Amino acid sequence: MAEAAAPPTQTTDLRDLPREALRDFVRELGEPAYRGDQVFRWIWRHGASSFDEMTNLPHGLRDRLAESSRIGAARIAQVDRSVDGTRKLLLQLEDGARIEAVLIPDGERLTLCISSQVGCALACRFCATGTMGLTRHMRAGEIAYQLVAAQQEMLDDEVAGRRADPAARPVTNIVMMGMGEPLHNYDGTLAALQILTDEQGFGYAPARVTVSTVGLIPQMLALGRALPVRLAVSLHAGDADTRRSLMPIDKRYPMDEVLAACREFPLKTRERITFEYTLLRGVNDGDEDARNLAVKLEGLRCKVNVLPFNEHPGAPFERPDDEAVTQFSERLRSLGVETFVRTTRGRDIAAACGQLAVKSES
Ligand code: SAH
Repeated sequence: MAEAAAPPTQTTDLRDLPREALRDFVRELGEPAYRGDQVFRWIWRHGASSFDEMTNLPHGLRDRLAESSRIGAARIAQVDRSVDGTRKLLLQLEDGARIEAVLIPDGERLTLCISSQVGCALACRFCATGTMGLTRHMRAGEIAYQLVAAQQEMLDDEVAGRRADPAARPVTNIVMMGMGEPLHNYDGTLAALQILTDEQGFGYAPARVTVSTVGLIPQMLALGRALPVRLAVSLHAGDADTRRSLMPIDKRYPMDEVLAACREFPLKTRERITFEYTLLRGVNDGDEDARNLAVKLEGLRCKVNVLPFNEHPGAPFERPDDEAVTQFSERLRSLGVETFVRTTRGRDIAAACGQLAVKSES
């Protein structure tokens, strides 16, 4: 896969720097490293958007920071609200690129689904984002900023007196399941995860953060060594041929090798890998598919997340009816595989899995 070029910038966006890198950055400006911690806290904990706000920093440092860096931001271009409480945020990045983030209230949980790339290079045949192709990787700061924007959106709601809205509270879980393949943008993703889990910033426990991947094996294993976040792997088939017909990446990283890597992935006690399985009518929803999958997953500490296909214009697949969804998941369960069906959320606003695709403005 070709590497996408970074957007042009005149100065360093301090949002791109995890705290360690920010400490290095201020050191190069001739300041002690702890000043980097302070800047990090101003940006991520106190929500500073300018250097003037950083009142405990010497004026000279604030001036030098302003000359050599900036604090990036994105604009909330549109918010769509679903009847089920789900909200889709359309964000416009500094270079005009647009991406989407989705807020999903679910009981006590409020999950934020974030994007990692503008578009996607992997072209899974059932996915709307896949039809866009890859425009570019998102920078770490852009990835992490989605949380800032989501919180801003909730705050605006409070101010507007819509406090009772189920999404008007802090995000409890983060899933990298929006647009893009997070591990194709490994550096941006890892730095964003470091920022989001840093105790001096938002301090999300890594166990509350899930990274979903098509199974880029080297990056998957590197991530497992770097940070104890949760892993979700998109499988979508019980056999290699079917998977290959749906996911071009399977040629490079075949199903059996992906599963072998999953067996190596470090897991804490009681933790499991999630396998995502988009259920497509007449393609991968038969009893035999369930049997094949159960055999492949034998001995793996995992659960299967069945996602009934979300239809979108032009997609050459159909959603199985509810009965077929139940039958497939019951079948898997009877074969000893822990299985749950992901309730489709935000379908009316095209915010459901695989429906994120930003139309280019004409
Ligand atoms: N690129 C990563 C992150 C995307 S996560 C990955 O593939 O894992 C989004 C999940 O929704 C993936 O499992 C993806 O395969 C699935 N998906 C894509 N299009 C879908 C659709 N139309 N209906 C249901 N699930 C879909």
